[in-house]
Order: sequence, then structure tokens, then C-alpha cells
Amino acid sequence: MYMQFWGVRGSLPTPLTPQQIRSKISAVVQRIGPDDIKDADSRQRFIDTLPETINGTVGGNTACVELVNKKGTVFILDAGSGLRALGKKYGGANPRTYHILFSHFHWDHIQGLPFFDPIFNPKTEIHIYSPVENVKQLLSDQMEAPYFPVPLSACTKNIFFHIIKPMEPFEIDGTIIECKRMHHPGGSYSYLFKEDDHKIVYATDVELQPDDYKKGNPNYQFFGNADVLILDAQYTVEEVIAKENWGHSSFSHATDFATSMNVKKLFLFHHDPVYDDKKIHTILKTADWYMNHNRKVRTEVSVASEGMEITL
Ligand SMILES: [Zn+2]
Ligand SMILES: [Zn+2]
Repeated sequence: MYMQFWGVRGSLPTPLTPQQIRSKISAVVQRIGPDDIKDADSRQRFIDTLPETINGTVGGNTACVELVNKKGTVFILDAGSGLRALGKKYGGANPRTYHILFSHFHWDHIQGLPFFDPIFNPKTEIHIYSPVENVKQLLSDQMEAPYFPVPLSACTKNIFFHIIKPMEPFEIDGTIIECKRMHHPGGSYSYLFKEDDHKIVYATDVELQPDDYKKGNPNYQFFGNADVLILDAQYTVEEVIAKENWGHSSFSHATDFATSMNVKKLFLFHHDPVYDDKKIHTILKTADWYMNHNRKVRTEVSVASEGMEITL
């Protein structure tokens, strides 16, 4: 199973600001020494050894994750603004089939759909999955005038809507998929993907509840022993207390949950738009430190970043 992050922000697209770019340049200038610019190799070495917060960014697009199974079937988890770049990868000209699964219908999870080039190719086939019965209406509404100039009815006619049931697994080209309702304003659905011995769980827009950690409840069957868990970690501990019922989790709850579910690799996801790269990496450092103290289970923790690829 191949996986790539195309959008990792929560709530709102968050481009780098001019000040943030200037501060990255300034940090580079402060680090550079005469030996770093001797020749092409030393320049490259210098660039490669810069911290991630300086020579990259976690990215500003909202939620969109691509999974490709061993048969080459493409699954797309949410249609945030990251979907636009994913559409460019495949191109509008080459018709193929996409399976798009929606966690829920807040703006940051649907706003990329009108900018997904393949949707305008009449030969593209798109299968849309959600437990929400009026999914077609919800997605059509954002493309009606005056919100968007091209309605969904003018896109490819090969869009098929599948209303799925939570905790009832189904199969697409050898991949077993299951969804589960989680705590979020209006509800959200997490998705589990299984292929051979590999298990990936996508759980965005989830406010973890005390019961979620209990072994023996359906969570363990769903999340337990996942190779990869992509989990909402929008807040710090202080924020999650101040923002009870806003529908998101803290990074420390995310690390506790991942270890209690015996997860191998945790990706902190749905980064808050107020946080810059430095703050998000400070959160990662803290989560990593926290994970390594008094833990029987060692879960590897990473920050989900745009463009990051994983192959299981
Ligand atoms: Zn969201
Ligand atoms: Zn939401």
C-alpha cells in the first residue's frame, strides 16, 4: 500500500506568509559558513543538513490523503484543497477511476473537489463513499452558483454515490474498508484500510473521549495494531481544555491513544492554521519526548507533511 499526503492542515488553507519565508532565509544566512559554499557538493550538503523547519514546510493545504493499493486502485481520503495538486499529478486528460471517501462535510474536507481536474473529463469515473445519505446534495451545493461557476451536474456523468454503513466492512479491488463514527460537531467518520497484513487508519476531526481508550470497546478492533494511524492532533493540551467540544484532539491525547491501540506509526494531522512550521515541530518534539517516557509500547510519531510518501 502506497500513501501520500496532499493536504494536512485543519480548518483553513494556510499559505506561508512573507514574514515566515523571510525568517527561513534569515535562519539559513545565520548558519552558513565559508566551508558551506566552497563548491556544488558542499552547498548541497549544507542544504540537506538544514532542519526541516528551515528547508521545508508542513504545507498549507487542507485535508487530502492518497492511498494506492497493490492493484493500482486510487483511494482519496477527503477532498480538501490538497486535492487540486493530486488532480494535477494524474492530469485531467488521462481518464481513470478514483474512490473518494469523506470523513464529513466541513469546508476543509470538500473545498478541493471543484478544482480536481479529472472531474471535468467525461471519461473519468468517480466513486464517492460516505455514511451520510444526502452526500450528493452536500457536494453539489458548494458547486452551485453563486459559489462556483460549474455545477456538479456539468462534470463527468460517471460519478457514483455509495452510502456505506459504519462498522460494516466492504471490499474494493482486494482492499477491505470500514468506517466508524467519531466525536466531532455533526459527527465524523474514521476509515480503516486493510490489504494483506497491512492496516492504515485515517481519523481526522476526532475529539477523543475517555471511553475511546478502553480496551474491549469497538475501538480496539478498529484502531488496534494499525501500521499507520493518521490522527487529528490540532491542539495543545491547554487548547483542548479551552476548546472542549470543538471536535479536535491534542497531540498528547493522540500519542496516548496511539500507544493504547498498539499503533506502529502515528502521524499528527489536521494542523491548526495559527501554527507555523516551528511550532508544529516543537509539538512533534514534545510528543516524541512524551512517547518515550514510561511507555511499554513504542509508537513512532511523525508530523504529517505535504508531499510525504509512505510505502507499506
Ligand atoms: Zn477539518
Ligand atoms: Zn470538521
